Amino acid sequence: MAWAAEGNYEAMVLACIDPRLQEPVRNYLADRQLKGKYSQFVIAGSAIGVTHPAFKDWHKAFWDNLGTSIQLHKIKKVIAITHRDCGAARIAFGADKVATAAAETETHGMALADFRKQVAERQPALAVETGLMALDGKIEMFA
Ligand SMILES: [Zn+2]
Repeated sequence: MAWAAEGNYEAMVLACIDPRLQEPVRNYLADRQLKGKYSQFVIAGSAIGVTHPAFKDWHKAFWDNLGTSIQLHKIKKVIAITHRDCGAARIAFGADKVATAAAETETHGMALADFRKQVAERQPALAVETGLMALDGKIEMFA
């Protein structure tokens, strides 16, 4: 664990505050052998909360925290996980845009693409992974 004491961690994880997703997200990261190797930023809507204009007052806190985690923890990557049936996604995009699984996939796909673009602009050295998680913990990654 010497590398951990030196402050070299793998990732910052960005996830939603929804209580139903806390354990699925934790389990997903454990399955990826990331236990103890990530910092975490939890905010309503996850990537949607830190990019969509509906939540503009929240954006700065995330980007500042991401910068801090890069500096302090030497993370290499940000992993953003949004989820199905997300109340924040409904507020941001409207009920019609998340009314069916297909519409929801398309909406989150666009939101996650916007997130990747903003990370590339603000932190070009950082790798980005984005995924949409179902309530049962199954995740679809978008690239
Ligand atoms: Zn949510």
